[in-house]
Amino acid sequence: MSDLRAYLDHNASSPLRPEARAAMLAALEASGNPSSVHAEGRAARAIVEAARVQVATLVGALPENVVFTSGGTESINTVLAQGHDLVAIAGIEHDSVRQAARSHGARIAELPVSVDGLIDPDGLDRALDGNDRGRGRVLVALQLANNETGVVQDAARLAERARSRGAQVLVDAVQAAGKLPVDAASLAADAIVLSAHKLGGPKGAGAIVVRNGFAVERLLHGGGQERGQRSGTENVAGIAGFGAAATAALRDLADMPRIEQLRDRLVDGLRQLTPDTILVGASAPRLPNTAMIAWSEAKAETLVMALDLEGVAVSAGAACSSGKVGKSATLEAMGLPPSIRESAIRVSLGWSTTEQDIERFLTAWARVSERLEKRRVA
Ligand code: PLP
Repeated sequence: MSDLRAYLDHNASSPLRPEARAAMLAALEASGNPSSVHAEGRAARAIVEAARVQVATLVGALPENVVFTSGGTESINTVLAQGHDLVAIAGIEHDSVRQAARSHGARIAELPVSVDGLIDPDGLDRALDGNDRGRGRVLVALQLANNETGVVQDAARLAERARSRGAQVLVDAVQAAGKLPVDAASLAADAIVLSAHKLGGPKGAGAIVVRNGFAVERLLHGGGQERGQRSGTENVAGIAGFGAAATAALRDLADMPRIEQLRDRLVDGLRQLTPDTILVGASAPRLPNTAMIAWSEAKAETLVMALDLEGVAVSAGAACSSGKVGKSATLEAMGLPPSIRESAIRVSLGWSTTEQDIERFLTAWARVSERLEKRRVA
């Protein structure tokens, strides 16, 4: 990507870190199958196991509790395939949670969300208590940090409440890992889901970090890799890149105050240019790298395209597979009015973000907003 562009869409995918690229290139030279007993196979196995330690360390878990997958979506689908009768889920969750729950025929209990994007703990109790009799196996899906707004849940507290009512807990830490400290022990979830490309690793690699003593039933049947929890020859290079990115992301947690300052400078500058801008989830705890901004004078897709032409990459809510701008389920669940839902854009920073990127964004915003305002009064 040209230096003349500012890439501010790390929540969609964070650029590959140099450490991850180097680890992947080295791993591509490993010709063996990690399941083979010969030297080449053992060399490939060593790469996978070293990465397992790196990913486990990122979240303070034991390596043997890390199950490698093809990413966040597969991890979530695997956990949701465990045969739950009831899945409690908030409207802010990633689409894969609801769709996988539905596809397995689970009943869905809706968890209410405040206007700031926080799951209501009493609402969680009600959702579970209301399903008290004959409810069977229950799973509560909790997102640690939201991909669109960056709002961070008190997942440890919510998980404790869910567990005290006999439910299993899935924590989607895809957006939180590498931006916040994530500690498997204090979350005590049955499964924590991670994705490599959100923290500077490659696309198409991810993990489920299971609770000690908990094993997931495989979604993919076959050779019994990953201790029987995920069959298929391991994506050795992808896993190596994931491991290296996890180590770098853990180190770079110390860089988060810099990222947060840059994010806040961007928001302040933007408010000076267009004072009627709204920051979504402003009074909730939020990721240090994310700002969701609504300027009701323009539709989100218009802003995203105009900023792109000015050399700035941001997004309108979640990145949809088709590239189209989808309706934001998150903002709808928060009960925000259409004027905000239709105009909200997400700016997300990351390890490669510089002051220059923020200046470039603000210059672009000044030009775009002036143009749109002129058009409006014309
Ligand atoms: N969960 C959250 C919160 C996400 O933001 C995403 C990706 O956007 C996913 C899960 C899915 O991860 P992956 O892209 O690795 O399938």
